[in-house]
Amino acid sequence: NHDLMIRNEKLEIAGQLAASIAHEIRNPLTAIKGFMKLAEQGSLHIKDVYPILDAEINRIETIASELLLLGKPVSTEIKVMDLSKLLYDICTFMQSQANMKNVILHFNIPNKPLYCKCNGDQIKQVFMNIIKNAIEAVPSSGQITVNAKEIEGDAMFEIIDNGVGIPIDIQNKLGEPFYTTKEKGTGLGLMVCYNIIEQHNGNICFHSIEGEGTTFTVTIPLVKE
Ligand code: ADP
Ligand code: MG
Repeated sequence: NHDLMIRNEKLEIAGQLAASIAHEIRNPLTAIKGFMKLAEQGSLHIKDVYPILDAEINRIETIASELLLLGKPVSTEIKVMDLSKLLYDICTFMQSQANMKNVILHFNIPNKPLYCKCNGDQIKQVFMNIIKNAIEAVPSSGQITVNAKEIEGDAMFEIIDNGVGIPIDIQNKLGEPFYTTKEKGTGLGLMVCYNIIEQHNGNICFHSIEGEGTTFTVTIPLVKE
């Protein structure tokens, strides 16, 4: 039975995900407990422990916030939204983050609306995660371009960077929970993006050349008039 097979596969993935989330959260918790114990015994001063606790708690907070929007079914808060406007607002907001790194964020967003049925918070998270990755991938004085257009009944978005690129041999690992190449990465951003776009009946893919840059392409069906 095909449906049962898919169901079992989904349960297996959910189980693996739960196990890896538990693992990721347990590491900082173990550190917090250990350092609190040392402070209690007087081996460490609480004032020296404080920054460590702060960093570990922030880590748990980041993981929790990246996962927050994942569990929510798309049907909550689904509306027809103008994604031109949504993306314009996100780019304006992300531009300040890019500028802090001396990175230029260009955006070419059409003057006409792109109406899609979606959960605005989730789509916002998708664009933010992808643009954030692009900012992290480019060197200082790098360039990021965000394009939006209409193509064959879909809204299509491209996020192009001239950053480090993704080596061929790790390209199929992207989007696996907790897969990261960054020292302070969570490896949750793309998994959340893939999940949300799938729930919107859209598509997400990327093309990358190591040392040259990466283009992420997201398509979401337009509402029929
Ligand atoms: P994180 O950003 O926390 O590492 P993500 O799921 O957002 O987790 O990304 C997973 C990995 O995909 C990153 O660690 C990085 O190796 C790779 N990646 C994603 N976007 C880009 C990009 N624009 N350029 C280069 N590498 C990227
Ligand atoms: Mg990321």
